[in-house]
Amino acid sequence: MVRSKVPALFPLKLVSRRMLAPTVAHLVFTRADGLPLDFIPGQFLQVHFTYADGTPTRRSYSLATIHDHAMGPGEAVEIAVSYVPGGAATALFENLPIGGTVQASGPFGRFCLQPGDDNRRYLLVGTGTGVTPYRAMLPLLERAMAARGVEAVLLFGARSPEELLYGDEFRAFAEAHPGFRFMPCFSRVLPEPGSAQDHPDVRHGYVQQFLDELAPSPSGDIAYLCGNPDMVDACFEALKGHGLPVPRIRREKYVSSK
Ligand SMILES: Cc1cc2nc3c(=O)[nH]c(=O)nc-3n(C[C@H](O)[C@H](O)[C@H](O)COP(=O)(O)OP(=O)(O)OC[C@H]3O[C@@H](n4cnc5c(N)ncnc54)[C@H](O)[C@@H]3O)c2cc1C
Repeated sequence: MVRSKVPALFPLKLVSRRMLAPTVAHLVFTRADGLPLDFIPGQFLQVHFTYADGTPTRRSYSLATIHDHAMGPGEAVEIAVSYVPGGAATALFENLPIGGTVQASGPFGRFCLQPGDDNRRYLLVGTGTGVTPYRAMLPLLERAMAARGVEAVLLFGARSPEELLYGDEFRAFAEAHPGFRFMPCFSRVLPEPGSAQDHPDVRHGYVQQFLDELAPSPSGDIAYLCGNPDMVDACFEALKGHGLPVPRIRREKYVSSK
C-alpha cells in the first residue's frame, strides 16, 4: 500500500498584518504550541487548509523573518503573501482575524546560502514576494561580506515603486554595506525624480534585461533566482549563456500547488 507522507503540523497564530503593497500583506505569526521554529534563511513553510468541499490542500510561503540567531519560542514567524484574485489561500489569509490560527509544516527547501561557497559575488534576483528569502538572508550576507569580502547585488523586479516590497530596508542595508548593491527594476512606473526611491541604481525594465550590465562571471558568481517562474527561466538561460555552471544557479519558482 502506498501511503502519502503527512508532515508534522503545528499551529501558527496571527499576531499582526500590514499591507506592504496594494495586494501584498506582511503577516506576523507566532507558534501557538510554544515551540521554536528554527529555519535557515531561504527556506519556506507550507500552510495546510481545505477547500470549501473539504479537500485538503497546501500552499508554500518563504520565511521573511530577518534571521540572525537560533529562533526561540514565541519569536515572530513572518511571511509576505501576494493576494491573487480567486486564490484559495488568499481568501484564507484575508479573512484570518488577529489571534486566528492556521496549520503549518516545515521549514523546507534548500534555497539557502551554502557555508562552503567560495564565490566573489552573489547575484540575488527576485520578483514580487520572491524577494523575501533575501530579506531573511541579510544577517548571513552581512557576515559573509565581513568574513570573506564577498559582494552581493540584489536585482529586484517590481511594476512600480509602491510594489517594491521592503525597499526601504534593502536601500538602508546597501547604504550601510558598501559590498551590497540594491538595483530595483521597475517594469512600468519609475520613482518620481528626487523622491526617496529615486537612486542611480534604479533601472527601467525587467530584471533579466540588466544581467548583462553586471557581467556575470562563471568562476566568480553564484546566482539565486526566486519568484515568477518565467523570470526564473529567463534568468537561468541568460546566466547559462554567460557560462555559469548550473550548480551555481540556485532557483526557487513560486508555482501554485493548486
Ligand atoms: C517554494 C515556494 C515558495 C513560495 N513563497 C511564496 C511567498 O513567499 N509569498 C507568496 O505570496 N507566494 C509564495 N508562493 C506561491 C504560493 O504558494 C501560492 O501559490 C500563492 O500564494 C497563490 O495561492 P492562492 O491559494 O491564493 O491562489 P490559487 O488558488 O493557488 O490560485 C488562484 C488563481 O491565481 C493564479 N495565481 C497563483 N499565484 C499567482 C501569482 N503569484 N500571480 C498571479 N496569479 C497567480 C492561479 O494560477 C489561479 O488562477 C510560493 C510557492 C512556492 C512553490
